[in-house]
Amino acid sequence: MRSAVASAADRPGGSAVESGVTVTYLDHAASTPMRPEAIDVMRPYLDGVYANPSGSHRFARRARQAIDESRDRVADVLGCRPNEVVFTGCGTESDNMAITGAVEAGARLTRSAGGSGRPVAICSAVEHPAVLDVVVHHGGVVVGVDRAGRPLLDAVADAIERTQAAGDHVAVVSAMAVNNEVGSVTDVIELARLVRRLAPDALIHTDAVQAACWLDLRPIVEVVDLLALSAHKFGGPKGAGVLVERGRPVVEPLIRGGGQERGRRSGTHNVGGIVATAEALALTDDERDADRVRIADLRDALVDGLVDSVSDVIETVDRPDKVAGSAHVCIAGVESEALLYLLDEADVCASAASACASGAMERSHVLAAMDVDPRYAVGALRLTLGHASTPSDVDRALDVVPAAVARLRR
Ligand code: PLP
Repeated sequence: MRSAVASAADRPGGSAVESGVTVTYLDHAASTPMRPEAIDVMRPYLDGVYANPSGSHRFARRARQAIDESRDRVADVLGCRPNEVVFTGCGTESDNMAITGAVEAGARLTRSAGGSGRPVAICSAVEHPAVLDVVVHHGGVVVGVDRAGRPLLDAVADAIERTQAAGDHVAVVSAMAVNNEVGSVTDVIELARLVRRLAPDALIHTDAVQAACWLDLRPIVEVVDLLALSAHKFGGPKGAGVLVERGRPVVEPLIRGGGQERGRRSGTHNVGGIVATAEALALTDDERDADRVRIADLRDALVDGLVDSVSDVIETVDRPDKVAGSAHVCIAGVESEALLYLLDEADVCASAASACASGAMERSHVLAAMDVDPRYAVGALRLTLGHASTPSDVDRALDVVPAAVARLRR
């Protein structure tokens, strides 16, 4: 264990140099640095192979071949068929396509069968807004979670049964594989079993955007209909996502137009982004087991150090229930916003809630759903580690965070 941590010191990029300042980067769940190999494979498509892959000349064919090869690589990591992989513009788009596309497909099926009743989307209360807001937008049902932030199976069953009793039908049930804020892991396989039993026609979607670094995705892909990924969470570029759509097209497309991606997602392909996504995902898959051990050691050192040096602090989720890169704590007597300000001043990058909502002074929707005591929840601190993290990141955080908390409490 110890040597795994020590060897990480040799890895480049744990602390990033930003405008000449060395920053301690502990915000990998927001975005993790691109893997150098992913940058290398992307470069030729930025300054060389720039042709539109939908064209007919040989430069276009070369770009198209790169996409095909990338699709094969992604399918290999996910344990699905290449034609089940849809390249999208980001994780948010993949989630939107899954939920909106399922609701629209449900409405179309009902119409064509001459039936009545509404297609209903169901999700957990701790989903990322890319799912939660879309489910609410379509008038869906949001179900509660346990103290670790995992959907309550009884609540899911109840939501399905109430929907059916009202004469509506469940179009999609969505539960994230790993929570972006507190890192908790949901047993998607168990949930899928329940949904298949109670609502065999419902689609099952999982937002696996935060899962790729920590979980083998193959057993999850096997039990769901739809799975969303985002490349910048596993060392690929921003603006590149994946939606896995199992079996046959099951949802309506979100973006229509030129018919790319077999009509599933129109729009000129981001060739370099797709090639780099495949490279980063393949490397993440190869290195996952070793990274998990190394990063869990770093995370444990970080959290143990914080608990030892800061009074009145709670670990938001127990370690066996969450991923190795998550070090979420709640600190009484401070406000996240003020703490993040002091950390930023000391060149330590962290966040409070999800990146989209950091700085919020109220309990985040995730901590509220988990019923975390507001006295602690307003002092939430999300430190997240990733493939480029090093022991010096942990040392620096343990220098800076306790001092910042002490200053705020004075
Ligand atoms: N889902 C989860 C769980 C996330 O953490 C994020 C990003 O923070 C997204 C979806 C959205 O992904 P993207 O940034 O690619 O739109």
